[in-house]
Amino acid sequence: MLLTSQPEVTFHWLRVGHCKGPEAMARQGGRLRLIEFPSYVGALHHPQHGWTLFDTGYSAHFFEATRRLPELLYRSTLPVTLPDHEHLPRQLESLDIDPGDVRRIVVSHFHGDHVGGLLDHPRARIIAGSAGAEHALSLKGISAVRHAILPALLPDDLRDRFDPVEQFPRVQVDGLDTWDLLGDRSLLAVDLPGHMPGHLGLLFTSGGRQVLLVGDAAWTTRSFKDVAPPSRLAKGIMHDWPTTLSTLATLHGLDADHDDLLILPAHCPEGHAAWTAGA
Ligand SMILES: [Zn+2]
Repeated sequence: MLLTSQPEVTFHWLRVGHCKGPEAMARQGGRLRLIEFPSYVGALHHPQHGWTLFDTGYSAHFFEATRRLPELLYRSTLPVTLPDHEHLPRQLESLDIDPGDVRRIVVSHFHGDHVGGLLDHPRARIIAGSAGAEHALSLKGISAVRHAILPALLPDDLRDRFDPVEQFPRVQVDGLDTWDLLGDRSLLAVDLPGHMPGHLGLLFTSGGRQVLLVGDAAWTTRSFKDVAPPSRLAKGIMHDWPTTLSTLATLHGLDADHDDLLILPAHCPEGHAAWTAGA
């Protein structure tokens, strides 16, 4: 049973760099071996409203922003690789999308691996939870790094181009709080709290499949299938641990109740494979 019926959009789920970290960090019960955590970015096209991005992944700006201490600590804790062909502007170009064609970017949250490419889209509107934007803008120096925020990645005119998600019409979908971003329910931003202030997902339908992008509300598909939260090592960067756990349980319930719903975490290769297998 569909969560809700929605007009179709076109969707691409693009891999934009990766970091390496222990599997056990992402999921309790995981092993200590180092695995890749790719960053995936959603590019969505609506016939009337044009292109929307969900997050932006890593970028050349990310490496510039982490060249010196204290920001270098971020990159040395979780080493990052961004092959040439994975740069987002290059991938958008190969899809015939001019960076200027991106009208809006939905930011799941302001961790550096999600907002690395905001600076590449100087005209796009930026949609996020207002608590998330305020939190990111309030942090500087080492206290920013401790929250995995890199202030240099935030555009100077962020406040001018910012559309708080709370200003869009609210829609209840099967117990989820959502906001209707385009007025036809084709893109519903979903409140998935806990990981960071104002953390958002995105619900849409593409190619006959309903998809829920969940950002970092779950780091891997196994996380919500098994209700396996991140390790206690990662607890320090979670904004609100009890809420992180209850959001994970919500995702588990949605997945169990809706065979036709594809839940895609921002860093999960298994999810990416599940999408491309049917695309
Ligand atoms: Zn995050």
